[in-house]
Amino acid sequence: MYVAKCTRNESFQQGRLSDYGNIELSPAAGALNYGQGVFEGTKAFRREDGKILLFRPEQNAIRMQIGADRMCMEAPSIQQFVDAVKQTALGNKRWIPPPGKGSLYMRPLLLGTGPTLGVAPAPEYTFLVYASPVSTYFKDGMAPLNLYVSGEFHRTTRGGAGGVKSITNYAPVMKALLSAKEQGFSDVVYLDSVHKKYLEEVSTSNIFLVKSNVISTPATIGTILEGITRKSVIDIARDLGYEVEERSIEVDELMEAEEVFTTGTAMSIGSVGSVTYNGKRVNYKTGDDLVSQKLYKTLVGIQVGKVEDKYNWVVQID
Ligand SMILES: *Cc1c(COP(=O)(O)O)cnc(C)c1O
Repeated sequence: MYVAKCTRNESFQQGRLSDYGNIELSPAAGALNYGQGVFEGTKAFRREDGKILLFRPEQNAIRMQIGADRMCMEAPSIQQFVDAVKQTALGNKRWIPPPGKGSLYMRPLLLGTGPTLGVAPAPEYTFLVYASPVSTYFKDGMAPLNLYVSGEFHRTTRGGAGGVKSITNYAPVMKALLSAKEQGFSDVVYLDSVHKKYLEEVSTSNIFLVKSNVISTPATIGTILEGITRKSVIDIARDLGYEVEERSIEVDELMEAEEVFTTGTAMSIGSVGSVTYNGKRVNYKTGDDLVSQKLYKTLVGIQVGKVEDKYNWVVQID
């Protein structure tokens, strides 16, 4: 793993790779007491010729800077962030699965590690990147997702921190997620907390729907996480000739869609088989002939170096 430190109001020192292991923290660390932390998720892929590819790592760097500003933290420069991800990928090269088998998931983490008993920004920050090999989420024929729309739990509200990748985002939704899983659902769709009728996103991914060949996804107004996969899929879809709308979407529209899918680094694009809301379950088209399948093939093709990368998204690192 890569580790670098910095003092408040200063720049990060040069980081270095060390063996993966525990880090020592003051019990009064800002991250532990007040949730002062942001994280990222990105992947390294092995191309057929053995070369290692990253996907838009500078986008993660920019998002970490925006999140750090919201949480009153120092952040590494874009260059230091990308360099740390590269070093971590290369340092763990032997763990990067063969083409088609999976990828190396990397977790950049920025924490307020200095002690602060009073509610204030921590005096010291730690930036680290660790990694784990992961298998391909959706193999061909993988079962579609069955989503549950929560009328009870919300993940954030306007003006909150739901739009940044804060370490505080997930603990509050585990209750909704566990309860949905106990009932046999794969994941939860959250609605806006004011009107309780506009779609926001799924626990760890963004949501899209397709109707009459138009692709729609909720606009980013601070309450949904601006996914890099979301953004990439919008560009790919437009270039494939689809109309894409970013707007407010009522949950009723979801129930009338022809196709629904989710996007995120972990699963790339996940096709949705059903949505359940207020006791009503609707099923969607699944199979090979889906818009989401076309998008998946292009996105993953670019990531693993099989489809031409006309966007310059992929960074080869060795
Ligand atoms: C990380 C994340 C996403 C997906 O973002 P990607 O950049 O596409 O991985 C979506 N929603 C939430 C809440 C997230 O934390």
